[in-house]
Amino acid sequence: MGNLTRQYNWQESAIGSPDSWPQSLRTTVNIMLNSKFPMLLFWGPEMICFYNDAYRPSLGQNGKHPGILGKPAAEAFEEIWSVIKPLLYQVFEGGEAVWQEDQLIPIFRNGHVEDVYWTFSYCPVADDASENPAGVLVICNETTDKILAYQKLEEKNLQLQTAIEAVSLAQQEIKENVRNLRQIILQAPVAMALFEGNDYIVEIANERALTLWGKKLEDVLEKPILGCMPELISQGFKELLDHVYKTGETFSATELPVKIVRYDQVETAYVNFVFQALADPDGKINRLITIGTDVTAQVINRKKLENSEAKLQSLNEELAVSVEELTASNEELERMQLHLREIIGRLSESEEKLKFAIATGEMGIWTWNADPRNSKASVSPFVNELFGFLPGQHPSPQEFKQLIHPDYLPKVDEKLKEAIEQKQFIDLEYPIRNLQNNKLKWIRATGKMFYDDHGVPTLYYGLVMDITERKLDELRKNDFIAMVSHELKTPLTSLTLLIQLMDKRLKNSGDSFTTTSFRKSSALVKKMNGMINGFLNVSRLESGKLQMHKESFDLGGLINEVVEEFLFATNHSNNTINITAAEKIIIDADREKIASVLSNLINNAIKYSAADQPIHINCTTVGNSAQVSITDKGIGIKAHDLEKLFNRYYRIENQHTRNIAGFGIGLYLCAEIINRHNGKIWAESEPDKGSTFYFSLPL
Ligand code: ADP
Repeated sequence: MGNLTRQYNWQESAIGSPDSWPQSLRTTVNIMLNSKFPMLLFWGPEMICFYNDAYRPSLGQNGKHPGILGKPAAEAFEEIWSVIKPLLYQVFEGGEAVWQEDQLIPIFRNGHVEDVYWTFSYCPVADDASENPAGVLVICNETTDKILAYQKLEEKNLQLQTAIEAVSLAQQEIKENVRNLRQIILQAPVAMALFEGNDYIVEIANERALTLWGKKLEDVLEKPILGCMPELISQGFKELLDHVYKTGETFSATELPVKIVRYDQVETAYVNFVFQALADPDGKINRLITIGTDVTAQVINRKKLENSEAKLQSLNEELAVSVEELTASNEELERMQLHLREIIGRLSESEEKLKFAIATGEMGIWTWNADPRNSKASVSPFVNELFGFLPGQHPSPQEFKQLIHPDYLPKVDEKLKEAIEQKQFIDLEYPIRNLQNNKLKWIRATGKMFYDDHGVPTLYYGLVMDITERKLDELRKNDFIAMVSHELKTPLTSLTLLIQLMDKRLKNSGDSFTTTSFRKSSALVKKMNGMINGFLNVSRLESGKLQMHKESFDLGGLINEVVEEFLFATNHSNNTINITAAEKIIIDADREKIASVLSNLINNAIKYSAADQPIHINCTTVGNSAQVSITDKGIGIKAHDLEKLFNRYYRIENQHTRNIAGFGIGLYLCAEIINRHNGKIWAESEPDKGSTFYFSLPL
């Protein structure tokens, strides 16, 4: 600033060249320029500006320096002139020096007007010639940094103050909270207690907590809870409390069974409870609170209820089973009653008949004592007469047997044995020889063995009827049928042959009508053949002339053959016939008769099912027998018909069978043929679902 001041063109300024400056100005400028304290000098009526190096930093960058040197104050400090003008004038006009501390006087520096704080004094500098001030020396110090620091400090202080207030408020609140917590605990409608520190000293516990623990307040207050209730330690409560205390994790349990010693008595209480950690204002855990309810009564009641529900359930189940059994036995009972009523009905119809028949001499009674030492018969006069014994005679079973036709004796013996062993009812027809006149008589003999309470046979009781007339009629009818059938068979065989021959010839003629007609004729002839054979066989059977010609053959092969022939001859069937047959099942039987059994059963399966339903034939071995089954999906058979199906002339009469032709002899013949082979025949069926007919033959 010394250089700048010296080089400045003062000539041009209001105060002129330095040679003309008064001594006081030169001295003051000299002092100012050499001073290390920031100083400014305003000289003369225009208040021309001087300043030193120490003042320069306060002018900042891009501001007044060096432009304000030698300029009038009003121009140099234009922006603050209104502030400093009164102070300067005051000093110029002979007033007191001015001293101001940390005064805000914004100035233009660093490219903008900045808030700057000053501590300064304005003091007058006298003229050489007079005592009047010719200039004002401004000694100043910028205190902006100090002020800003102070302001910051103030702000911090304020914040501190606020924080202090907040802390005190919080502390107050905590106090309030603790007071509230105690209040809450005491008034809570559940068991609540506060444990302090990790010895879990009981700080407060409400009435319900004391009741739950079975303790008085003075027993537990200010004491470690686990010391007061040592039984909790073995139940894992120490670990539980420690865990909550250490981790701050809340523990809760529902319906936990806890053994508690209440007034010297160990009781199990079921408790819902929570252990929760409480922290001091620093976040350090220093207390645990427990909240709990004793739910023993509810749990016990519920368990009782569950128990009784389970009991009720099993009782209900038992009841359901008994009801079911009862219903079943009731149904059985009802069925039996119905059956019984039927029997009673029939009995009281047939009792009359019996009495009448016995009285009129069409029927006789015979009884034997089952004891072999006293097995004489007690017979009605009719029986003695029939067999040719003397009136009043009591023949032994042996004497009766000698009069039975030897062909039928084995059958009678077999049936008698069955009657005794299997307690079955006998109904047999056989011829006998009259002891007196040697004439053949046919009898129908029924009988049943009666037993004592220990199951020992006591009495055989039966009826005897003379059926000679009926039997002879039947035989005559059979003979007639046999004769007619036989007579019909010869032309029918020729007719079959002729038709077959013509069929072959016409095959290539291209006349489809004739071919089809011959086919149909052939099928009809075949059917007729079958019918006639049937009748012939029945008549042979009845007169004991049906002979079996046994040979060894493969049953599966026969089945295939019969089916093929069947399909060829009928040619009308849309029913597919599937066969599953095991390889080579060789049986010893009458091939032709078994073929007729198969043919009968297949024919029925087709006859009694819809045209598009499949038929399945299975042939396999079961144990020591060959077993064939023929299954259809046809009309099926009711259970009560199933029993009678194999009886002679038995046909089921219903709307399904009304239009299906038949005589009811097919199954009868099948059964006879199979029985003669010591085989078995039976059927299983469900109405509207279908039937399976089985027969088995010994291998
Ligand atoms: P039919 O000449 O009347 O067919 P069967 O002795 O062959 O004489 O049969 C006796 C009765 O058994 C038939 O009338 C029929 O009602 C019944 N039946 C036989 N086979 C079947 C079957 N597969 N499905 C339903 N009913 C059948």
